[in-house]
Amino acid sequence: MTAPHPQAMSASFTLQGAGVSGGIAIGHAHLVSTARLEVAHYEIAAQEVEAELLRFDTAVARVRSELSGLQAGVSATAPAEIRAILNLHAMLLNDASLSLVPRDHIRKRRCNAEWALVMQMDHLAAQFEAIEDPYLRERKQDIVQVVERVLKAMLGTGHVPAGPSHEEDVIVVAHDLSPADMILFKQHQYAGFVTDLGGVTSHTAIVARSLSIPAIVGLHHARSMIREGELLIVDGREGVLIVDPGPQVLEEYRERSRGIEAERQKLKHLRTARPSTLDGTLIDLQANIELPQDVEKVREVGAAGIGLFRSEFLFLNRDDLPSEDEQFEAYREVADAMHGRPVTIRTLDLGADKSINGAGRMGPNPALGLRAIRFCLAEPQMFLTQLRAILRASRHGKVRLLIPMLAHAHEVEQALAAVRHARETLDDQKVPYDRRIEIGGMIEVPAAALSLAYFVSKLDFLSIGTNDLIQYTLAIDRTDDAVAHLYDPLHPAVLQLVAQTIRIANRAKTPVAVCGEMAGDLAMTRLLLGFGLRQFSMHPAQLLEIKQQVLRTRLDDVRSLAARVARARDPDKARALLAKLNA
Ligand code: PEP
Ligand code: MG
Repeated sequence: MTAPHPQAMSASFTLQGAGVSGGIAIGHAHLVSTARLEVAHYEIAAQEVEAELLRFDTAVARVRSELSGLQAGVSATAPAEIRAILNLHAMLLNDASLSLVPRDHIRKRRCNAEWALVMQMDHLAAQFEAIEDPYLRERKQDIVQVVERVLKAMLGTGHVPAGPSHEEDVIVVAHDLSPADMILFKQHQYAGFVTDLGGVTSHTAIVARSLSIPAIVGLHHARSMIREGELLIVDGREGVLIVDPGPQVLEEYRERSRGIEAERQKLKHLRTARPSTLDGTLIDLQANIELPQDVEKVREVGAAGIGLFRSEFLFLNRDDLPSEDEQFEAYREVADAMHGRPVTIRTLDLGADKSINGAGRMGPNPALGLRAIRFCLAEPQMFLTQLRAILRASRHGKVRLLIPMLAHAHEVEQALAAVRHARETLDDQKVPYDRRIEIGGMIEVPAAALSLAYFVSKLDFLSIGTNDLIQYTLAIDRTDDAVAHLYDPLHPAVLQLVAQTIRIANRAKTPVAVCGEMAGDLAMTRLLLGFGLRQFSMHPAQLLEIKQQVLRTRLDDVRSLAARVARARDPDKARALLAKLNA
């Protein structure tokens, strides 16, 4: 899509991105810098300059004392990085470039304090971006984080012009949103959101899907082309954004939106239907969640359990680590709410696009860095805290423990040893837990899929993380829209790895599920059933549609075609066969 000429900006225009969650939203644009902090830009009168300077200085002083409080409170068991980062942030804040230069902007340009600070942040960020050394270049993130703290401290202290008043009519327009930003959206009722950056299986998109609001990522220039308050149509299914639509187009989309809502309502009657195929095989349809509050939606759609609880979301948007008790309460809440149905808690998958506040640096190539189990094994105390919390929660339901991103035998051994150690510490303290708790592993690194026999022999169950399996098989960053077109679930290598993992696990009678986005993709249901998959885990919002597809499928009809798809030499051939399978 080429950018329209700026002069055309008041007329209607259309942008194409990647739709990440279905449905149509119609509402008014609300431009945000980041979801966390919506920075207002306004001019101040000459007599307001002193008060604005004071507002800025007060916020800086507040963050200074916040940081020293955090520095003093870092527990001995916290990752060493946290202390280093807090020290760095305190140093950055004390530097004149952040604590004094914005004052000059306020004075000379008569702009509000937030605007002055963000202007200076952009200036510094541009300087850092030009640095060749990747470590120093990464420090840009630290500046952004310090600035965000100061902006937060100023929130509510200025006469910020009010944003749109009804959230249900608001479409958030951002350059980029992190998964941590997105999780904050759970407290809001926005109609939809669109971003310039991002891939469809990034965690940002995954959380958007869990919110069931229409969303589009990878729109490239939307943030700079759209104006505050402009009327927008977000078609999350087709990835189409229409800016300032005419009355006819508007009515057409309203009609489509009503149709989609009617379809959704119709599906509700399937809530209690037994998810079996036409030939009577029962399929286990479970749900993915990010936070305990998501359980409500899981129950609304009658899921058989929770196949993936992405526990790391409990660790985002905060400056400390959740304690064992806090984690225990969260896990117990979910286990209790599921009344004995399985709750699969994945141990921390931090790193890549999800990092704890301040710990922004996960190496030069975060997706390939100290992520998930690698990070946990490097931080044994933090891991122990989580394992103890999960084990303690296990006596409140059917809790299962899932280890992400395994690739090496020694990682499996070390993870199992860490669980044994956590059990021993509980035994010593006579703390009860489910002694038969099952331990599973995610198959999401091609190395694991290609050496599955070992994983099958050591683990009680497997869950295929297709999002990462595709990312790592095809060597593309799932968060990078520049390579989003190369993210292809139908690449023969991907299909072979998925089919083979299911086949080997079934043969060994090791339960296997798919919990990546592929599990909730209607186009893939029959294919996965044909591969022999009997357990799916997906967003609650996708579950009834997938159930409907299961109810319409005869396994005998799909097996041989699915095998042909897996053997297809190129994605186009696979696509043609898949269309036949779904006809
Ligand atoms: C996956 O990789 O497919 C998966 C389910 O884990 P996540 O999306 O959280 O990385
Ligand atoms: Mg994954």
